[in-house]
Amino acid sequence: MGLSLNKIVKPQSVALNKKATLFSNDRSPSKRLYVEGMTPRFTRQDVLLLIKNLRSIYRLPFTLYKTTKLIRHGKRPLRSVLDRQTFEAFSRLMQDLEVADWGVFEVTPEKVFKDCGVPYTNAIVLSVKMDPTKFTTAPSMECQLEVANIYTKSGDAANILSSFLQKNGYGATPNHSMGGQVDYSMAAQWANMAVVGRHSMAITKKNGACHRISLVYTNITNFSEFIPQEEDLSWISDFCGKCGKCIRNCPKNAIYPEPLKNGNLPLTRIDYERCCEGFRDYGCGVCIKVCPFTTMDYETLKNAHFRNRKVEEQNEK
Ligand code: SF4
Ligand code: SF4
Repeated sequence: MGLSLNKIVKPQSVALNKKATLFSNDRSPSKRLYVEGMTPRFTRQDVLLLIKNLRSIYRLPFTLYKTTKLIRHGKRPLRSVLDRQTFEAFSRLMQDLEVADWGVFEVTPEKVFKDCGVPYTNAIVLSVKMDPTKFTTAPSMECQLEVANIYTKSGDAANILSSFLQKNGYGATPNHSMGGQVDYSMAAQWANMAVVGRHSMAITKKNGACHRISLVYTNITNFSEFIPQEEDLSWISDFCGKCGKCIRNCPKNAIYPEPLKNGNLPLTRIDYERCCEGFRDYGCGVCIKVCPFTTMDYETLKNAHFRNRKVEEQNEK
């Protein structure tokens, strides 16, 4: 019998539903669940690696437990307007927690997964980088250990930042990186801090495609005042449209060359069933490994993209 991640993340979702003030509607997408009965093929070497890294992964379930506890015992907010001093302290805390990219968006019912709810109508999106060097071996146990490590770190970040805001009198509730009430990749795009790539991962400026996301739902209404001038990331979609490296390298042919449209629902970029087959190979991760936004830095890619575009435009004349 495999490990049921769905059972492990369920208490968080139940707690959030109980505290919810905003619920999904009939235009909401369905939540994608973890694969049940997952039986990864571990070699002897993998087991030895797991044992060696036990210290770094044992904290993961505890951070999830802490999230659920914080949701259940969230204090009644006293205020909803953020002041500069508190923001600066919040910002320093984000740096300490290695949150490199962040943004905020307004939560509306159609953004919430079917049969789910959230406690506040604003959300802070937090992105914590995974080590791309660990992904060079994907699919591998080494890579999955890094995923687990960053699930812990990003879950922790949501917990600590929520506690900080609560202590300062604001309404704040964490949503752990292991399971969101909304689509995390889309959340990063709604927050204007990322563009969803063809592999369905959010591509951000500092973390590229190699990161994990967690959320803090909050009653703070003026967070956007503190966001530095946002950069136009739309060129990433252009770049992605011409690249297709993840599609060519996906071992299960799970990534659609053209995303599927489904009425008002978000685009479907990957065949989840097929990707789940890859999930059994240590969670796969090949699409993250080969993505240029994992292997190269943002500015280099951006400069090359605009240089190429200029050449194309000149050739067309
Ligand atoms: S994780 Fe693997 S199987 Fe899934 S879409 Fe990426 S490359 Fe394909
Ligand atoms: S590998 Fe290429 S096509 Fe796939 S998400 Fe990354 S940039 Fe886009």
